[in-house]
Amino acid sequence: MIVRRRSAGDIIEARCTRCRDVLNHTIVAMVEERVVRVQCNTCGGQHNYHPPREEKKPVRQPAAGKTASPRPRKEAAPSAPALWEARMAELDPDQAIPYAMDAKLRAGILVSHPAFGLGVVTAVIKPNKAEILFREGTKLLRCAL
Ligand SMILES: [Zn+2]
Repeated sequence: MIVRRRSAGDIIEARCTRCRDVLNHTIVAMVEERVVRVQCNTCGGQHNYHPPREEKKPVRQPAAGKTASPRPRKEAAPSAPALWEARMAELDPDQAIPYAMDAKLRAGILVSHPAFGLGVVTAVIKPNKAEILFREGTKLLRCAL
């Protein structure tokens, strides 16, 4: 390891605790090869030596490995199109009833909506709402019970 020999009185870059910036400092005290105390050339304050590179550490890049993200990932819940496709595979599109506000719906029924297309009723919510899973997502629509 090649280290440029420094001595007290040399100018080095250090992080100033007062200016909160990396600035030129004058070495005040050294222990062997190590700078321990510096004087800020900007504010004149003396403080322990803080290497300038520490300033950049907080900008931490996520590690390449998956271990770096303990947060729950979104893909835990299947997306609406995937759910929809799974349900459609079980049902016969010819059995779909046209959606109407007075349609009598119940869970598991296949409906055909003029705007949203085919959907499956996932729940009927009293008094007159049905939760229907369409390709683009779940919609709460009016229905008759
Ligand atoms: Zn300073």
